Amino acid sequence: MKAPPLCPNIAANVHAHRAKKEYLEPLGLPAERPADWRAKALDKFRELLHERRSLSLYMDVCVRCGACADKCPFFLGTGDPNNMPVARAELFRKVYRRYFTAAGKLAGRLATAEDLTDDVLDQWFTYFYQCSECRRCAVFCPFGVDTAEITMAAREIMASIGVAPKYTTEVIRKANEIGNNLGIPLAAWKDSAEFLEQELKEQTGKDIKMPVDQEGAEVLLVPPSADMFANADTMMGYAKLFYAVGVNWTTSTYASEAGNFGLFLNYEQLQKINRRIVDAARNLRVKRLIIGECGHAWRAAQAFTDTLNGPLHFLQKPCPEHICEFAARLIRGGWLKLDKSANDGVTVTYHDPCNLARGGGLIDEPREILRAVVNDFREMPADTIREKTFCCGGGGGLLTEELMQTRMNGAKPRVEAFRTTGADLLATPCAICKAQFPEVFKHYGVDARVVGVMDLLAKAIVI
Ligand code: SF4
Ligand code: SF4
Repeated sequence: MKAPPLCPNIAANVHAHRAKKEYLEPLGLPAERPADWRAKALDKFRELLHERRSLSLYMDVCVRCGACADKCPFFLGTGDPNNMPVARAELFRKVYRRYFTAAGKLAGRLATAEDLTDDVLDQWFTYFYQCSECRRCAVFCPFGVDTAEITMAAREIMASIGVAPKYTTEVIRKANEIGNNLGIPLAAWKDSAEFLEQELKEQTGKDIKMPVDQEGAEVLLVPPSADMFANADTMMGYAKLFYAVGVNWTTSTYASEAGNFGLFLNYEQLQKINRRIVDAARNLRVKRLIIGECGHAWRAAQAFTDTLNGPLHFLQKPCPEHICEFAARLIRGGWLKLDKSANDGVTVTYHDPCNLARGGGLIDEPREILRAVVNDFREMPADTIREKTFCCGGGGGLLTEELMQTRMNGAKPRVEAFRTTGADLLATPCAICKAQFPEVFKHYGVDARVVGVMDLLAKAIVI
């Protein structure tokens, strides 16, 4: 019997599960790859080049200087050359050259161009789902090439011919049909809110409310649904913060999810999921919109709400506002009475979620909060924080079981930076990071806990 071929390259053998008909069709995607898939994929490619000038630019300006090569956490963690940002982008560029440049059309491989074949498509599916769209490479590129944009385009082209991951499409289907990524029935949202109100009563002795679907509230808070069902301390933290300053707020069962997996598939779904938030704000007649602790939710809401579903004249500025911006503003204004000693006994460090720091410009506010509520706060090394932060390894739609090896590899640089702090508590305002890090710490034998920024703030608030 012939021995199976040896493949030392583990990253090449890790693939997301492909979505089948039941996940593709509800999103308006082909149930299977059409016979003329190549022509359709190239049509989509052409359309995106036309629509997104940045994409055309990224195809042509890369000089292959290599400055980005060792900046990707997935290359550092896997050692797979195709995970270097420049090489990942090259998988896409060589098809671009073949069909959209004169040299590629004439000289083919001599012009480093390549046909869009089944093998190339397989490579795209493998490596564009080993990129978390974290944009760290873009910070170091002298020409500003953002490989995350190339990843997004490749995913959008693949989706247009029915090639998409089960995880992402399943989550989007739940968000469209039920209103949250976890697929939790809306009645459970109300039950959970009531349960957390009781919990807050036991903890504080106060009647701290967690209102649901309250018309005319001043603020609509849209948290990641994971906060309601898995990160209870974060959810109770929001409630305690609003209570402390007397703000009338509500959540919505229609938009019970800040996360937007459309960012990981295509613009159509990104717009559709975002639209639910805008509709909920309008229907509840709130004045302000605040987004909870989630990195990609913030990037999607901040960068796209106004352009895809605006203008939002009916809401007060800043709109949307991140909960960390809101809390930092209150701290600066002296509106909160805080007792730092409530968080004594632990050493805290902060992880910048990529989509907050690089994708959403939210860098200083979480630190302002932590410095105000924690006595022992330490930063990770300077070249791994703020806009140079490392991905947790689970962003970009990778937070699925079958990509566990990729996730653990991608998290390696972050864990190494974390270890230098000696911290036993990692604070991060992102539901994806909060789900990923416990797995990562278990995998790497790190004895530390993961909390939200609101968790620590709430502990320190004196009411
Ligand atoms: S740093 Fe920029 S120009 Fe240099 S190889 Fe990477 S993408 Fe290309
Ligand atoms: S966006 Fe992030 S994960 Fe993707 S290639 Fe760049 S550094 Fe790597």
